[in-house]
Amino acid sequence: MSLRHLSVKALLFIGLCQVGRRGFASAPEVREPPKKIAIIGGGIGGTAAAFFLRQEFGPGVKIEVFEAGTVGGRLATENIGGYEYETGGSIIHPLNLHMKYFLDRLGMSPRADVPSKLAIFDGKELTFEESDWFIVNFIRMLWRYGFYFIRMNMWVEGILDKFMRIYQYQQFGYSFSSMEKLLHAMGGDGFLTLVNQTLEEAMLAEGFSQVFLNDMVAPITRVNYGQSVRINGFAGAVALAGAESGLWAVDGGNKLVCSGLLYQSKAELVPARVTTISIKMRPSKMGSVTNFYEVNYVGESGAAHSMYDIVVVATPLHQGMSDINFSGFSPPIPSHFPGRYHQTVATLVHGLLNVSFLGSTEKPEDFYVSDVLTLDNKAADILSLSSLSPVKIPKGYTPGPASKSKVWKIFSSQPLSQQHLQQIFLSWDSVWEKSWLAYPSYNPPHRRTPPFILHDRLYYLNAVEWAASAMEMSAISGRNLALLAHHRWFQQTGKIDQEDLHTRLRGEL
Ligand SMILES: Cc1cc2nc3c(=O)[nH]c(=O)nc-3n(C[C@H](O)[C@H](O)[C@H](O)COP(=O)(O)OP(=O)(O)OC[C@H]3O[C@@H](n4cnc5c(N)ncnc54)[C@H](O)[C@@H]3O)c2cc1C
Repeated sequence: MSLRHLSVKALLFIGLCQVGRRGFASAPEVREPPKKIAIIGGGIGGTAAAFFLRQEFGPGVKIEVFEAGTVGGRLATENIGGYEYETGGSIIHPLNLHMKYFLDRLGMSPRADVPSKLAIFDGKELTFEESDWFIVNFIRMLWRYGFYFIRMNMWVEGILDKFMRIYQYQQFGYSFSSMEKLLHAMGGDGFLTLVNQTLEEAMLAEGFSQVFLNDMVAPITRVNYGQSVRINGFAGAVALAGAESGLWAVDGGNKLVCSGLLYQSKAELVPARVTTISIKMRPSKMGSVTNFYEVNYVGESGAAHSMYDIVVVATPLHQGMSDINFSGFSPPIPSHFPGRYHQTVATLVHGLLNVSFLGSTEKPEDFYVSDVLTLDNKAADILSLSSLSPVKIPKGYTPGPASKSKVWKIFSSQPLSQQHLQQIFLSWDSVWEKSWLAYPSYNPPHRRTPPFILHDRLYYLNAVEWAASAMEMSAISGRNLALLAHHRWFQQTGKIDQEDLHTRLRGEL
């Protein structure tokens, strides 16, 4: 790191501390615990924030969670033929420690394992089909791509090792005031570079070939983020980790974690849409003036408003995701930050797959492929096709071959036409479609990640998604904001934005 770089960073750091102090100085009496906290959004981010805020501030504070739609947000299920199926966020990595911890605390368990088999489709035929035998897969991959796929695992593991540091920091109560600082604490300048370059650039620089990227990496970024290898390198690494073994889901549905966290945190659910957040001044008992946040909302019984000491916005502040007006803030807070969310259409079809659509000559009764990923070319106009198992596996359940009528989930960028469905399926008895604004449209280098701190005690959880969007990322952000809100409230600046934590905490656990 150059001296010039260091000094700029040091100045930035000192500047941030000054801004922090100024913020606190205007409200020196905010030493008593807060009385009321509002969280806008009841997805995994908002409910994780409620859980961790309760941990930080104790039983005395009233926590209210506003939810305009359904608790769970982008974690959702749909009933087809009497069984529930995941339609939004579905897979969880074995090292997603917050999600694991939530399950333990809530007395829930992972869903039973179901065998799966992967294939890759180029729009005409299957270019890769997993064998039931590990050794056959190994030799096939070695033959085609040399040691690239082993090196890819090592590359992802290296990133994951650094990523895991966040759990240690959070366990020791450390928090970060921006996504950049959080990333830097985990993986130094390397992580900051990774979010500001494409996965393609990052992997080519590591010596991977373009052919390997097109054949093996693009199908993974397409199924996990609906986008090409030109997503940012950090989100790319998260997507690649999402193709490792040991992935799991929650028995009964991932969204149950959200209602469980709400219950555990003893937060009150307010089924209403927040329309405006404004800043209000009130004279305090000590004679000075204190800021409060007024949250205006519309519920079933009409419009109302309440005052809060702390507010956490746990929904993306982007076009099509929310429409909250921020009033009276200087500098102004936008309703929508730059950038957009990417459309992924999930179509669930209960029917008979046409295996010849995949160019397969196998008989349907011998066709056990469950997950078809696709290459990034014009011929492959779907992103992925997967056979779904219910969120609760019935006794004696086996997914069975393609000759059996099953529930298939297709991800595509645009809704599928009737003609398209007729090509993919021989017959069906139900079709269900949901168009998600699923995750950010990643176009690195991006200008700047949105801030975690929108105003003194007004926080923004979903800024984290601009590094990578995943359930665990929202949970990490929830914990970070709970710690940050606590430390800023009680002026414990020594627990915010500390440099070199990895070295300082080495050996502590
Ligand atoms: C199709 C799809 C597949 C995915 N696959 C995976 C996967 O396999 N693994 C994984 O880890 N992640 C996956 N993700 C991403 C993951 O689902 C999200 O990152 C995560 O669920 C985001 O949670 P959140 O709570 O931060 O936001 P959200 O779930 O979007 O929650 C925000 C909530 O705020 C509410 N809200 C919005 N505006 C207002 C308002 N004005 N007032 C009150 N409430 C409001 C919304 O109704 C919503 O419930 C997937 C997402 C999609 C859509």
